Amino acid sequence: MISWEDAYRTTPPWDIGRPQPAFVGLVHAGELTGNTVLDVGCGTGENALYLAQNGFSVAGVDLSTRAIVAAKAKAEERKLKIDFRLANALSLEFQSGRFDNAIDSGLFHTFTDNDRISFAHEIARVLTRNGGYFMLCFSDQEPANWGGPRRITKEEIETTFSPLFNINYIKDAYFATRIHNNGGRAYLTSATKKSD
Ligand code: SAH
Repeated sequence: MISWEDAYRTTPPWDIGRPQPAFVGLVHAGELTGNTVLDVGCGTGENALYLAQNGFSVAGVDLSTRAIVAAKAKAEERKLKIDFRLANALSLEFQSGRFDNAIDSGLFHTFTDNDRISFAHEIARVLTRNGGYFMLCFSDQEPANWGGPRRITKEEIETTFSPLFNINYIKDAYFATRIHNNGGRAYLTSATKKSD
């Protein structure tokens, strides 16, 4: 399997140079609450940059140095202040309760079954009380014939997140890529961290 770092030697299919329409829709609908957002697996940062442009205080983490270097360069060029960091989303250095929201554009669908559980715990940990998690992943409606990441069922999302989150919805959505004309079939999940 090629590494994430290798994927960013060229422009990978998901790196579309603009925010995902699903997240633009969430901002327009006012679904993100509070002020702080963590973008997990932020890649070259278009979703994080879009949120910062819309007044949110944003941090973005990714495992790829190339992606983080590119994201930092975009922030500087666009005169936006974002805390882009090289980090593993499964073990974050942020303190507990630090973020009002977490967004995930195409990270969850890359995890193994075991990592899904650790990931859900880590996201819940860094979110504030009633913090929101918004996730876009390829769905089981997307054909398997072109490879790509795992296709996710609604049941898998519920199994992973419902112990720690109330799931507000799992909606049909599109994942815009450089290889689909009108995006891949995806699910957009909105979940709220359960009160302890
Ligand atoms: N959110 C970005 C990138 C999606 S691709 C976008 O929408 O363009 C998935 C990203 O997750 C890649 O950039 C990859 O480097 C990153 N990634 C994979 N595993 C990770 C992990 N454990 N922690 C942090 N980032 C990870």
